[in-house]
Formats: sequence, C-alpha cells, structure tokens
Amino acid sequence: MTETFDIIVVGLGAAGSPTAYRLAQRGQRVLGLEMYEPGHALGSSHGYHRMIRKAAIQGSGYDPLADRAFELWDELEDETGREFLTMTGEVRLIAEGTDPRYKGDALEMERRGAWEILSEAELGKRFPGFRLHEGMMATFEAGAGFLWSERGIITHVELARQHGATIKTSEEVTGWEADGEGVTVTTDKGSYRAAKLVITTGAYVGELLAELNLPFQVNRSINGYFAPSRPDWWRAENGAPDFILDVPEGGFYGMPAIGDIGLKIGLSTQDKTGPRTIRRTIEPEEVQYLRDTLDKYMPGAAGEEITALTCMDAYTVDDHFIIDHHPEHPQVVIGCCFSGRGYKFSPVLGEILSSLAIDGETSHDIDFLTVKRFAND
Ligand SMILES: Cc1cc2nc3c(=O)[nH]c(=O)nc-3n(C[C@H](O)[C@H](O)[C@H](O)COP(=O)(O)OP(=O)(O)OC[C@H]3O[C@@H](n4cnc5c(N)ncnc54)[C@H](O)[C@@H]3O)c2cc1C
Repeated sequence: MTETFDIIVVGLGAAGSPTAYRLAQRGQRVLGLEMYEPGHALGSSHGYHRMIRKAAIQGSGYDPLADRAFELWDELEDETGREFLTMTGEVRLIAEGTDPRYKGDALEMERRGAWEILSEAELGKRFPGFRLHEGMMATFEAGAGFLWSERGIITHVELARQHGATIKTSEEVTGWEADGEGVTVTTDKGSYRAAKLVITTGAYVGELLAELNLPFQVNRSINGYFAPSRPDWWRAENGAPDFILDVPEGGFYGMPAIGDIGLKIGLSTQDKTGPRTIRRTIEPEEVQYLRDTLDKYMPGAAGEEITALTCMDAYTVDDHFIIDHHPEHPQVVIGCCFSGRGYKFSPVLGEILSSLAIDGETSHDIDFLTVKRFAND
C-alpha cells in the first residue's frame, strides 16, 4: 500500500531540512526524502562553513530576511545548545576596475551604518595582514561571520525527526505527478502520496522541474584550505575576519583558519556545469591560483595546503532566488536557485517554504523571488 503524508519535502539540504523541521513542528505529517546522507558533499552546502552578514549587498529585499535569519540561528542555538554562528566580522577589499557597483554599494552601506570604510592606515592597524594595492578600497562589516553549514543541516534533520517527521535517506526521487487531490512521488524504492509537495533539490532542481525550463545555470566553485604561516594574522582565535576580495583576479571569499580547519578561500569559476557532470577534482594550477591571490592580498594566509574541494550552486539569470508555488500546480512549492548566497538564510527558507505549503502564503515579502518574473524572458 502506498504510504500517505500531508506534505513531502524532496531534498534535505540548506532549504529542505529546515522546511521539514518547521512543517513537522507545525503538526504536519511530513515525509522528507534525500538521495544521499544529510551533510553529504555532493550538493551545495558542504565544506564546513558558509558566510553570513547583516547587510545584503544585492537588493535590499534580502535585508529583512537576513535579520530574521540571525534571529532564527540564535533560536536554534538556544534550542539545541549547539553553536552554528561564529561572528568574526568581514573585511572586503575592492579594487579599482572591478564591478563599479561595489564602490557605490560601499558608500551606500557606510551611509546606512552597515559598513565602515577603512583607510589603509586603519586597515593596517586593525587587520595588519591585508595588503591594499593602488586604487583599492577596504571596508569592514562588524555584523558578519560564518555558519557551520553541515552541522546546520544535520541538526534540522534531527529536529524534523524529533517532531515526528519520517525521514528517508539514500532514496532518490525519480518523478512526481500532481492531480486534483495532491501529488504522487516516485522514488528508486517506491511511491508515496501527499496533499502537498516541496521541491528543494538545489543544483539538481532542473531534473524534477524540467517542464518549467527555469532560467538558471549551475556553476562550479573551487575551495582551498591552507594552514596560515602567519597564524597571528589569519586565525579566527586571534581576531582574523571573514574576507571578500573583489579584485582583477576574480571575486574571492573566505573564512579565517579555526581549530584544525584551514583558512578557506573560494572562487566561483563561472564554469557552467551540471550536478552529475561537475569535475570534482581540483587541478594543481587552480590551487596555485588561489594561493597566488592570497599571497598578493593576504600574505601569510596560504601556508601548507590542507585540502581542496569543489562545490556548485544554481544561479538564476538575475541572481535572485526562486521561492514560489509551481505555476501550474499550487500544491507544489519550489525553493531553489539561491545563486551562491542561500545558506545564511536556511532557517528563514524553512519558515517561508513551510508557510507557503501549509497556509499558501508567507508574511515575508518575497514578491521579487517568484517564478513569474521570468515570464517574458
Ligand atoms: C563554494 C560555495 C560557497 C558558498 N558560500 C556561501 C556563503 O558563504 N554564504 C551563503 O549564504 N551561501 C553560500 N553559498 C551558497 C549556498 O551554499 C547555497 O545557496 C545553498 O547551500 C543551497 O542550498 P540548497 O538547499 O538549494 O541545496 P543543497 O543544500 O545542495 O540541498 C539540495 C539537496 O537535494 C538533494 N536532492 C537533489 N535531487 C534529489 C532527488 N531527486 N531526490 C532526493 N534528493 C535530492 C541533494 O542531494 C541535496 O542534499 C555557497 C555555495 C558554494 C557552492
């Protein structure tokens, strides 16, 4: 006999795991389906940590979501006694000739009190490791830090279970069909019925929503982890911040070394890839490129290489998320394409997606994230 539920959530990553938790917490009979094991390294949320900041740079529509995210991460820490958020602040180096938007944004952020613009002397005094080259600007955002991303997902899945959700892992959804009364979801192990369906399959989203032809692409990112040769400058324990480098070599981001985890530097390569075809090995030249960048702007950060890994995320053409009901099947809710910025919002995504599924609406302003904005593309 086919098992039946109120709501099925497919994909238990940054968006799906808190959704399953919130739905179960609100008394729904939930089935969460995940094709790997929570916290795995084949999606978009692995590699220990992700950055979070209060001020969102691309479109102030994200600011209220960021504020709510901070509240919910705090609540999760209180509820579980686990640490998710490490506040370090964030230094951003912005080079002349990179996207001119950034300098305008920096001035706007300073006006709003979210960023400080640091002179070279101030930067040298507070964060002596950074090197400001000709024509560059430095900013500091105190309300920034990083989240322990794999821990967040595993915890949300555990909480979903504790609130009565049925969680099935290593089970891949191969298709779904909506009808007047709900949905049938088919997996490699069986099929299930529910009144509603939430699809949060990350970079794999094209597979279950092919008919929508959503305008996104999957980009490959590379990440290097290094033991700093100047731990006094580059360890979180010694006050080192998160960093963003908007420089001619590319748009880099990273976190200081902490515990036995090296300083992380990442770069989205803009290499269009697919979730099943992504090149997961990292070439020595790629690691060297990361190292050279650190040597130029953050000397002493790239000592011995600890590890390197690849990741991917789904980017929409306008770089904004997709959070909406399926345009033809209102019982299906979609949360995807977080365009390199989704993790920090994870608990808010759970709040929004669970409300859309149960209530059909959310109190958060997400009009700019609908599917229909692409109607004329
Ligand atoms: C290198 C890198 C650095 C980043 N840095 C930051 C950052 O600093 N701050 C930030 O906020 N964001 C950052 N991001 C973006 C953020 O990590 C992603 O936007 C977010 O993790 C995406 O969450 P998701 O739920 O969409 O995908 P995922 O977390 O990958 O979850 C999708 C899940 O669906 C499962 N799935 C897929 N298909 C099926 C199926 N058919 N059946 C069952 N299960 C399925 C997958 O296995 C996966 O577990 C970064 C991304 C990358 C790649």
